[in-house]
Amino acid sequence: MPLRVAKKEFLAAVTCRTQGWYLQHATDQAPGLGLQWRFWVGAHVHDRARAWLGDGVMLRRTPLEAATEDTQQYVADASQQLLFETTFVWNGLVARADAIRRHGIEWDLIEIKSGKFKSDEKVNAEFVDDLAYTRMVAAGAGLKVARALLILINGEYRLNGTAEPFAYVDLTEQVNVRAAEFSAIADDVYAKVSADERPAPEMIFACKDCDWFKTDCVGRGIPDPLFVIPRITEKKFEALKHYERVSRLPADADLTDTQRKVVEVIQSGTPRVNSGGLAVLDNVQWPVRYLDFEAISAPFPWFEETEPYQMVPFQYSLHQQDAPGAPVTHKEYLAPGEGDWRLYMTEQLLYDLGTSGSIVVYSSFEKQQLNGLAKLFPELADQINAVIARLFDLEVIFKHGYQHPGFLGRTSIKKVLPVMVPALSYNALVVNNGDDALGVFGLMRVKALEEESVPARREQLLRYCELDTLAMVRLHEATAKLRGGG
Ligand code: SF4
Repeated sequence: MPLRVAKKEFLAAVTCRTQGWYLQHATDQAPGLGLQWRFWVGAHVHDRARAWLGDGVMLRRTPLEAATEDTQQYVADASQQLLFETTFVWNGLVARADAIRRHGIEWDLIEIKSGKFKSDEKVNAEFVDDLAYTRMVAAGAGLKVARALLILINGEYRLNGTAEPFAYVDLTEQVNVRAAEFSAIADDVYAKVSADERPAPEMIFACKDCDWFKTDCVGRGIPDPLFVIPRITEKKFEALKHYERVSRLPADADLTDTQRKVVEVIQSGTPRVNSGGLAVLDNVQWPVRYLDFEAISAPFPWFEETEPYQMVPFQYSLHQQDAPGAPVTHKEYLAPGEGDWRLYMTEQLLYDLGTSGSIVVYSSFEKQQLNGLAKLFPELADQINAVIARLFDLEVIFKHGYQHPGFLGRTSIKKVLPVMVPALSYNALVVNNGDDALGVFGLMRVKALEEESVPARREQLLRYCELDTLAMVRLHEATAKLRGGG
């Protein structure tokens, strides 16, 4: 049987044929916990959307030939109005439409996405591309397509409210234009993606976020690609790309002040210390607490007043040190997998935070979560606002006070810690990143984790969050030394 190319590979190849080829030839890997959560969310949204669309026939997806035949038969049957998971093959390309609904003598093509619809927001270009691909293949296979419709989660939906859970967006016009563009390159994409040999790669802006860049492709062996320049735009990348790496950029390269500082640090190979930027450390008041939240957003809210995808904190870690060099103590909270923990967690947190001293955080995330809690619990707003007034964002030090070539232009704790405190590492942890942490909690909440594994998973969550705040303790110590023994 000739090789089939599916939507994901085709759409990757639209931008980069080499990336499409890599995807087509990659071996399947077990998804991480964050990805497992997103798979669960996707499947759940599809289930609910199908129920919302009404009675239809669910077609089989495999084996491919049988799935395609089923689709043809059901489409030809005039009594069928709504079909789910239809399969089309055209010129070696395979497409699955989430749903098709009869529309006169034609069919509406329906794509279900777990994104959120807001009437004042533009629809994600990726959604248009998804539908355009399906439209191209379905129409090529003989389906008469009337409209291309997207179903998204309605941003107005509330648990136990009256708003519909989903909203339609008619993308017919944009999809038709894009499908015509895809048709013009479809043969070339198929030939390159299905070839035995990898198409020749070329450094483009999309390499920035490509999984193969550093390990297999054009970024291999380049320690300082242009993508380490903070907030580099596609336009600037195109203008500078012939230099290939930061170390080759000339002194007069067109850069913003922030970008230039990062470039200078990397080119010099030595850290940049700005005593003015470090001086804000003098504002830290003892006793110092170090706070980190983990939070999750669910497509369909778990609580009545929350919006779809609104962030809900479910865990915190808190280290405390009463004076420089004094012993460090630790407190923590992790929500149960059911019920509404938010008031209890907030009251516990306020108690643990006390009323004096600075609260060191890393980034603006904790402030956002506290603001959310103040809105949710107006009776606690004064106390929470007093906590917010005590926050000290340690990341600011790495933005303005100290930059090391090893940071490669980044200031996140995961990039800064290995350089500043190499003895402390996330590598040994089972859950060692925020994406997996929220994945574990999400899967636990929806009972998609095996029950016997829950105690161990909870422990893994606790140790991950604990390391985040211990990292802040050590980073504060390291920066205080730079400041001069503060
Ligand atoms: S690294 Fe760049 S050239 Fe290579 S596959 Fe990825 S996007 Fe394409």
